[in-house]
Amino acid sequence: MSEKKYDVVVIGAGNGGLTAAIRVLQKNHSCLIVEKHNLPGGFATSFVRGRFEFEASLHELNDYGCDDNIGEIGTLFKELGVYSKLEWVRTYEAYRMITLDGKYDVTMPLGVDKFIEKMCYYVPEARKSITDFFLLAKEVVEAQTYSSSVNGNTDKKYMIKNFPNFIRCGSYSVNEVLNSLKMPKKAIDILNAYWCYLGVDCDRLSFLHYASMVYRYIKRYVYVPKLKSHGISLALEQRIRELNGDIYYNCEVEKILTDDDRNILGVQLKDGKVIKCDHIIANCSPTTVFGKLLDKRIVSEQEKRATNARKLSGRGISMFLGLNKSCDELNITNHNYFIYDTADTVKQYKLMESLKTNYAQATVCLNRAYEDCSPKGTTILYFTSLLMSDDFSNVSEHDYFKMKDFIAERFISTFEKATNTKIRDSIEEIAVATPQTYARYTSHPQGSIYGYETHTWDSLMPRMMMMKEDNTFKNLRFCGGFAMRSSGFSSAYISGDIVGRQTCGDIARKGR
Ligand SMILES: Cc1cc2nc3c(=O)[nH]c(=O)nc-3n(C[C@H](O)[C@H](O)[C@H](O)COP(=O)(O)OP(=O)(O)OC[C@H]3O[C@@H](n4cnc5c(N)ncnc54)[C@H](O)[C@@H]3O)c2cc1C
Repeated sequence: MSEKKYDVVVIGAGNGGLTAAIRVLQKNHSCLIVEKHNLPGGFATSFVRGRFEFEASLHELNDYGCDDNIGEIGTLFKELGVYSKLEWVRTYEAYRMITLDGKYDVTMPLGVDKFIEKMCYYVPEARKSITDFFLLAKEVVEAQTYSSSVNGNTDKKYMIKNFPNFIRCGSYSVNEVLNSLKMPKKAIDILNAYWCYLGVDCDRLSFLHYASMVYRYIKRYVYVPKLKSHGISLALEQRIRELNGDIYYNCEVEKILTDDDRNILGVQLKDGKVIKCDHIIANCSPTTVFGKLLDKRIVSEQEKRATNARKLSGRGISMFLGLNKSCDELNITNHNYFIYDTADTVKQYKLMESLKTNYAQATVCLNRAYEDCSPKGTTILYFTSLLMSDDFSNVSEHDYFKMKDFIAERFISTFEKATNTKIRDSIEEIAVATPQTYARYTSHPQGSIYGYETHTWDSLMPRMMMMKEDNTFKNLRFCGGFAMRSSGFSSAYISGDIVGRQTCGDIARKGR
């Protein structure tokens, strides 16, 4: 292995790490990514079983857009030099939400006007409040765009003048703001369907965070990568090679090396090899970095407390089915299903704390977005749920496979019952992933697939505002799902962008 010293070592080749590396390389600094797996992407990957290539994670990419309606991620991909490397298909359906208590079976479209009209079809008296919601959400997004354009150094007067409602909503939850808009309960239930993408119930979820995500989905439409999310990861990796960056696969960082004054010296890999560097970008969690990778003696009390105070977000439970019939034959009509016990997000979150009572699923029929994603006459269906506690640690090694069967059976029977379809007789391939799978695959604590929970004090805005204070360790920064933009594909790309640029700033300041 090379004895070269790098300006920057990135730990992990997930969405955040790959993006950060490109930013560093674009400024002509040397950069190495060290990835413990044998592929780029982290969760953003695919896997093959029989004649099916399964998307491993992505349901919907937020805020990509297209040339005449470009979103933040589309713009970022242009700047990174990967936009032209990718092919997408556009979808038109936002979601179908079905609740098992029989109250809801609604299908919502993408596009702001269409969404409003459909909401009024279901809840005619909601026209004013849903229109007001989109106006407010637009202001939220515009305020965020302004804030990003000035790197968070916002002008107070400008903010008050141009984004007064953004400021007014700042510390309120989704439900508090929707109630203040006098939105009928039924419309709130329908609008809150996306909540599971952020994994926090709407009594505790920041309105700004939710409104921004919903607006970006509905306004920019949803794009599905033809080569699955693995294709995006490969495009980013190819760009890193073009910029002369290095990537080591099958290499796990076991230690971050520092001197006693907390100056970064490099990383040590599992096989004992040392790679020297001046800066580190961690695409893994602060729990891992402060709890495992750094010498315990030099981790400050503040870092320990700040990390331990945070709550892990949903642990992943998923199932992937390759079906030997077309979705027309199976009568699977929609692309994106949210199936809940109840539309009450607080009650649903509680139910999701226990393996026994967790019936929620976000399920995607990829063929309804992109017909050719699987061989002709077949269907890909994948199911995701979140476990909002560490209940999986109560499953013994002995019961592990029984639990997987239980999860599969529940996903299938719930889907069949909710959608009035029959899928079990057409299963050709099946794979089930548990929190254990995700913990092993990415090393994330307890198999959390959504980083730390973005509830109340640890929501998106406080994280963005505390970015400077949270950066406690000189020349060590965090990107990805555990970082300041929280989890999700788009958020991880954006945090990689921010942290890559910040690291270039750190290097320049030292140079001066
Ligand atoms: C089933 C599922 C469905 C999802 N659906 C969506 C969706 O529809 N939309 C959406 O926006 N998001 C979705 N997500 C969430 C999204 O995938 C993640 O938030 C995002 O990919 C996280 O990116 P990241 O940058 O944090 O990197 P991660 O994907 O977390 O990757 C981190 C990388 O670091 C590596 N690593 C860790 N420790 C070390 C070490 N010590 N040494 C070397 N390498 C190390 C890991 O191997 C991994 O490759 C889903 C996730 C899952 C699992």
